[in-house]
Formats: sequence, structure tokens, C-alpha cells
Amino acid sequence: MTANVALWIGTSAAIAALLALWAIVRHLQGKACEVPATSALWSGRSYACPDCGTAMEAGWVMLGKGAIWSSRDKRPPGTFAHIGSAMPNTISMSLRPAANMAWRCPSCRLLLIDHSKLVKPAGRGRTA
Ligand SMILES: [Zn+2]
Repeated sequence: MTANVALWIGTSAAIAALLALWAIVRHLQGKACEVPATSALWSGRSYACPDCGTAMEAGWVMLGKGAIWSSRDKRPPGTFAHIGSAMPNTISMSLRPAANMAWRCPSCRLLLIDHSKLVKPAGRGRTA
């Protein structure tokens, strides 16, 4: 194999990988539900810790690669679980990333995540 052929194959593979990544990003953007931050989002959303019963603390969580779920009777997500298998609304591709509403119990270290939607960060000086 000449160096030119190897270079061509390498370049083609890199372009194919970029196209695949772009397709995944577009797919996620199309499916994501991002809403503006408003205080109304929090109304009626108080939860007791399912373990100790204490009121959970409300806040935000950002999941990075997204939440990749597998049921208990299946194997846990492995090394090759990729961004495309993230649960709906658990990953934000926005420049100012949107986050998930979440509740936590600091003593039990349990986290409850609402992934029915992502919430865009509020503008300067505004809080939700
Ligand atoms: Zn608790």
C-alpha cells in the first residue's frame, strides 16, 4: 500500500466518523425538548426521599454524556455505550447547555431526575 492510499483511507475514515457524529448530534437535537427556565416549572414538584421520607432538595443536574439506562436484568452499560443510546432529554447539544430538573436527598445520596424535558439556563440576573 502506498502512503497516498493509506492517507486516503485514513481521511475517509475520519470523515465517515465525523459524519456519524454529526448525524447523532442532529438526531439528539431533533428529539430533545428544551424549555425556558421559569419558576412555574417547580410548582407542585416536591418529593419525599423514597428511602428516608425527608423532603428532597430541588436543583439541577447535568449529565454530560447523557443518562444511559439498562434494566436490572440486563448488563450495565459498558465501555462502548455511546451518546446515541442516551435516554431522551438527558443530553444537551446547546452552546449554553440545558440541564435537567432534579431532586436529591443529601443523606441517602439518592437522585431523582426529570428527563421529560431539558431546561435552558435563565438569562443574566434571572433565576427559576
Ligand atoms: Zn433520604
